[in-house]
Formats: sequence, structure tokens, C-alpha cells
Amino acid sequence: MSQRTADLQAALHDVHRRCAGLGAGSLPDYIPELTKVDPALFAVACCTVDGAVQTVGDADHQFTMQSVSKPFVYAMALEALGLEAVHRRVGVEPTGYAFYSMIRLQEGTNKPHNPMVNAGAIAVTDLIRAVNPDDATERILACFARFAARDRMTIDDAVYRSERATGDRNRAIAYLMRHFRLIDGPVPDTLDLYFQHCAILASCRDLAVMAATLANAGRNPLTGDQVLDVGLGQYVLTVMFVNGLYDYSGRFAFEVGVPAKSAVSGAILAVVPGRMGLAVFSPPLDEGGNSVRGIATLEYLSERLGLHTFRSGGER
Ligand code: GLU
Repeated sequence: MSQRTADLQAALHDVHRRCAGLGAGSLPDYIPELTKVDPALFAVACCTVDGAVQTVGDADHQFTMQSVSKPFVYAMALEALGLEAVHRRVGVEPTGYAFYSMIRLQEGTNKPHNPMVNAGAIAVTDLIRAVNPDDATERILACFARFAARDRMTIDDAVYRSERATGDRNRAIAYLMRHFRLIDGPVPDTLDLYFQHCAILASCRDLAVMAATLANAGRNPLTGDQVLDVGLGQYVLTVMFVNGLYDYSGRFAFEVGVPAKSAVSGAILAVVPGRMGLAVFSPPLDEGGNSVRGIATLEYLSERLGLHTFRSGGER
């Protein structure tokens, strides 16, 4: 084991031990099925761009990706349709709103602010669906599997149905966007696809590999598969950096300093370009909708491993 691998492994074990005791946070109940999860689950995983995977805790426990799916559907849409077509439907600006304030569009253009918030992700999902409505779910599953180096990925049917049954806020924003011709498809079909990709099952280990693929200019470090065009990764990482953690995004960029995306299932995926992908899973959320242990873990790792993008001096 190289020194660097040993350092990384020691850092993961230390952070897991330190953060396991954090008891704050609550489970989101607006998707009823998500309240059935064990709040004590806690995993941290890392995959370097050389393909070394290290994990600690419940790293093989599968949970639904929720908003962590958003950077990947955005990447798919850029790949399929190009920047211009995608950004006719969605902006790149931060919202500054809490994660549940989703029924807002940009003043002037009426476009959703960016692809990391629900409105923007629903608009992007509609674009992916329009390429071929018949195989859209399969295309998303196949693309995510390539990012994760998995043979196939699946959808948690109970969580998908649970969100479909209670997802009126997303339904409202989708109808508003259709009114502004930002969505072409029938709203129920576009939302079905959106709820499905939010309910894709992944483990913390999978998310670290997906993040490492983004860290490695779109090439999966385990399989060598070029999943995303080399020139597109920078756009995905930029919207993650600016918008990935709801209205905590600025503070997270300040403290941790890497592109990341969090989800109401308690996952946070973080990308250290040219170096590694990181993922944390711990279900209890703070008031901003971010995993309590997830934030604490990434703050600690950024400091200890020198991950901040704008860090001066030292080795990266
Ligand atoms: N499926 C969830 C929703 O649309 C995702 C939210 C999230 O993880 O931020 O509300």
C-alpha cells in the first residue's frame, strides 16, 4: 500500500469515528418512504483517479440517489443535445432559496435557475425524454451504470411510488414550466421519469466511483470507459460548485471548496478534479436539507487532505 493510500485510508477511518457521534438532524417526511430508513447508517467512500477505492462504514448499503442524480442527467443532456440546446431551457445561476422553495423561476426569462434544483432538473429530464420517450428510463439507467462501473442499476419502486403519490410541488412547477414552453412532454410522463431517476439505487461506494469519473475528465477510472465528452465535465462541475448544496452552496464552497451535490436521502457526492471522487451517506438532514454527518465529514476531509480548490501552497 502506498503512503498516499495509507494516508487516505487513515483519514477516512478517523473522520468516520469522529462524525459517527453526531446525533442531530431529521429524516425528510415529504417522501414518506424515506422515513423508513435507519438513521444510524453511515458510510464514507473514496475512489481516486487511479482507480483505488476505499470505504468505511455501510458503504455497500443501497439508497435512492434523489438529487445526486441531477449532475448526471445534466451531463447526459449536454452529451445528447449540446450546451446551447440545454441552456435554452435552464440557466446556471444560484437561487439562494431553501431547498423546499422550488416553485420559483427566474425573473425575466422564466427559466429554472440551474440544473441542480428540482425545476431545472425536471426541464433537463424532459429534454432527455424527448430524444426517445420509449427508452428514456433504460438510457438513464445504462448511463448511470457506466458512471458507476456497475453492470446495471435499478429503481426502488416503493420510493418512486411514494414520491409520485406526494409530489405535488414538483407537479406544480412542471405545469408552470410547460405553460412557459420549457417542457414539451406531457407533465405526468416527464415527472415519472424524474421521480424514477431520483429513485435509482446506489451505494456510497457507487457514488464515489461516479464522482471519480467526473474527477477524471469523464473517464471511469475502474473501467477506462469515457462516459462523458472530455470538454463537458467542466460545465457539470461548475454548476455543482455553485449550486450543489441548496442554499448552503456558498458556505460549502467557502469551507470545503469542491464541486458537490447533496440529496434528501442523505448522500453527498464530491469531486476533487484530477484527484478523487468522494461520497458520504448518512440520512439525518439539517435544516438546509443537507446530511449533518455528510457536511461535517467533507469539512474535515477537505482540511486534512488539502482539497479546497483555491487552497494556496501545498500539494494537490
Ligand atoms: N426527488 C426529490 C424531489 O424532487 C429530490 C430532492 C433532493 O434530493 O433534493 O423533491
